[in-house]
Amino acid sequence: MDNYYDAIVVGAGVGGLFTALHLPSTSRVLVLAKREAELCNSKLAQGGVAAVYKPVDDDNISLHTNDTFVAGGFKNDPSSVRVLVTEAASAIERVLELGADFDRDENGELDRTLEGGHSRRRIFHHKDSTGAEVTRAIRDAVLASDNITLKDRSVMCRIKQVNGGFAVDVLHDDEHTTYTCRFLVLATGGIGRVYEYTTNSAIATGDGIAAAYDLGATITDLSLIQFHPTAYHDKSRECFLISESVRGEGAYLLNCDKERFMDRYDDRLELAPRDVVSHSIMLESKRTGSDEFYLDIRYKGEEYLRDRFPMIFEFLLTQDINMGKDLIPIYPCQHYLMGGIDVDIDSRTDIPGLYAVGECAHTGVHGNNRLASNSLLEALVFGRRAANDISQKLAEGSKPFEYSFEQPENAEHIPTGLRTEIRHIMQQSYFVIPDMQKAVEGFERVSEIKKLLEKDCYIIDRDLVEAHALATVAYIVLKEII
Ligand SMILES: Cc1cc2nc3c(=O)[nH]c(=O)nc-3n(C[C@H](O)[C@H](O)[C@H](O)COP(=O)(O)OP(=O)(O)OC[C@H]3O[C@@H](n4cnc5c(N)ncnc54)[C@H](O)[C@@H]3O)c2cc1C
Repeated sequence: MDNYYDAIVVGAGVGGLFTALHLPSTSRVLVLAKREAELCNSKLAQGGVAAVYKPVDDDNISLHTNDTFVAGGFKNDPSSVRVLVTEAASAIERVLELGADFDRDENGELDRTLEGGHSRRRIFHHKDSTGAEVTRAIRDAVLASDNITLKDRSVMCRIKQVNGGFAVDVLHDDEHTTYTCRFLVLATGGIGRVYEYTTNSAIATGDGIAAAYDLGATITDLSLIQFHPTAYHDKSRECFLISESVRGEGAYLLNCDKERFMDRYDDRLELAPRDVVSHSIMLESKRTGSDEFYLDIRYKGEEYLRDRFPMIFEFLLTQDINMGKDLIPIYPCQHYLMGGIDVDIDSRTDIPGLYAVGECAHTGVHGNNRLASNSLLEALVFGRRAANDISQKLAEGSKPFEYSFEQPENAEHIPTGLRTEIRHIMQQSYFVIPDMQKAVEGFERVSEIKKLLEKDCYIIDRDLVEAHALATVAYIVLKEII
């Protein structure tokens, strides 16, 4: 029964790792990462983690709650927002306890920055690479835990409900192994790779969402997709993000005539929430007939910018841009998913024993639009809640069982080009402002692709898993909007 675990966590970003770390040390836990353990959206997070922790500037939980609701268009779930903001302080405390090195001021006090949509400075950060630092601290603790096995380059290909638990078909080095467990946590991250241009890591293909959908779990608001207004504009597949905190620290948005334009669209100017700024850029683009836009923070000076945004500063230098002297070309691109696998405030899906945490989950905290830096926080708070709920249930015991998935015979590789086609459909039909005619046509085609990939004649490998997940995600998103 070596392949039986009390809990399997699919995903080694902040959501998955934090969940695994808080499961009982007496339980056997397996954590899977599809590629290298470091490849995930968590590692890319720049700005920080929002929290009312040892508050300054008369900040309080009501203000954080209100900012979250305003950004989310008051479509947020009040009970999950309450959990998010009230448990934020203890999440920060725990991450500090694990050794995360957040920036401090000259007096040694934790520094807080401001980001769009926040009425107070409450973003804890490690320079402009907070996600990498938080993930490192949690991963170090996971690796030091004897009860947790972290397997990288291990793709969850299929899941099935068996014996009151789950069987998981995992592909590692061209070999399939079936692992079984009592509790299964999906922490597979976002869906960015369903677009041509995204800030998301290559792993963000929505695998957990597609697997949960196939199992019959409720998927909610998958079309609530956030388009970040300020990705570096060079038409790379993985767009480099120019963090919200650059605007938070005072950058101006300029149009092709190098004029500020946000006053045409919103009183909050550059510090309006992301959806408003992205929308404004699209409207301004229509008005001027140009997709040329810039961030301007030159007035802060090279020394300050190099120190405050070292990663962004270095990246831009590789593009021959000195942000202390030059304008930064930007444009919106896909960034985040507000919807996902529907869960309650303990991260439980509607399938007993199945949990979802992090970006693949829909807790309802974000409403129509996520407030900056609330997502690492969501992964921490609701990851720990999933672990607490599972821990209580594990106290009743868990009974090992075996299962073995069959592989299709005489199987072939999937046809090439399907993923590219899906990405093109999504980019054309639903980018910031939906194009309904293209969405209707796109839906027809992704339905065909999804059906094709569900035939039992393809080799079960990462190509199939990802293409099928992208087709499923595109299918659900387009079905929601047409
Ligand atoms: C550029 C960028 C900047 C950001 N900045 C911020 C910020 O400043 N503050 C903030 O709060 N949020 C930020 N976010 C959002 C935030 O980083 C993510 O929402 C959050 O980290 C998601 O964590 P996660 O654990 O859900 O997913 P991820 O960190 O993406 O981890 C997903 C894991 O699932 C695994 N996986 C996926 N599919 C499979 C499979 N089939 N089999 C096995 N494993 C699988 C992957 O290998 C990976 O380990 C940013 C995001 C990006 C892209």
